[in-house]
Amino acid sequence: MHIPEARVIWMDGQLVPWADAQVHVLSHALHYGTGVLEGTRVYATAAGPMAFRLEEHVRRLERSARMLRLPLPYDRAALLTASSDLVRENDLTSCYLRHAAFFGYGVIGLDTREAPVRTVIAAWEMGSYLGAEGERHGITLGTSSWRRSDPNAAPTAAKATGPYLNSVLAKREALESGYDEALLLNRDGYVAECSAENVFVIRDGAVLTPPSSAGALEGITADSVRTLAADLGHRVEAVNLLRSDLYAADEVFVTGTAAGIVPVRSLDRRDIGGPGPVTERLRELLNAVTAGEEPRYKHWLTPVG
Ligand code: PMP
Repeated sequence: MHIPEARVIWMDGQLVPWADAQVHVLSHALHYGTGVLEGTRVYATAAGPMAFRLEEHVRRLERSARMLRLPLPYDRAALLTASSDLVRENDLTSCYLRHAAFFGYGVIGLDTREAPVRTVIAAWEMGSYLGAEGERHGITLGTSSWRRSDPNAAPTAAKATGPYLNSVLAKREALESGYDEALLLNRDGYVAECSAENVFVIRDGAVLTPPSSAGALEGITADSVRTLAADLGHRVEAVNLLRSDLYAADEVFVTGTAAGIVPVRSLDRRDIGGPGPVTERLRELLNAVTAGEEPRYKHWLTPVG
């Protein structure tokens, strides 16, 4: 997926032209993966551009940074204001926002205590991450030969750059094996998540998803889906799942900021059946929420730009 250029990037407190947002090749994060990141979507609504659960994303960035002992130079209010300024200065009505903070240039080696911290926010227009075809008819998943990183090797609860190597390996393997996306199991053999999405199973009307202790990121879309499903009257539970629970499920779907809610058609070539009624209902509801058409969930939308 190529990045369509926008006009400016927010970098360490300044808006700089897109092409000038550069760092040194000896930046610490480039060599050791010492950064944290966030992805937030901004939706076009009748009341203007709205960021979905922006404050929750910034709070997760703060928690990730704390886990890495990376001191964020900007507080929540500054990052929220900067996000809004960025959308306005780029004249975007809907976009993907990428927040990142990382150890920059100045020290080499693994001691980060003296390393400078760089903070950036970028915005660009982004379509559907897993493809329109997959959104409509369901994606294919393959169980990865790579295990989800152990939470005691590096915290899987942190959305940190280094650990994404795990996801990158799994995604590439899945695509080259003819699948749309990878399903990662943890060291104990339970389902963790996909390379960039949380996973849900529907069985007899219950909505089941692995707990974060299984190695899943605490997804903000997943949290929203759990709330919506409970509000629709479903039993919602975080439980350890085996891959066979997905083979036998009534419906399976994945969730993420970039992906949205996407139905799963098959896992390891076992047909699950594509978009089912619960998945469709949740998709419609989330679409209405992000379009600003559901007053009950208006508090999830922050005006930006
Ligand atoms: N798991 C991983 C590994 C991810 O990268 C993402 C995307 N941030 C998710 C789950 C979904 O999280 P969210 O809904 O907060 O985007």
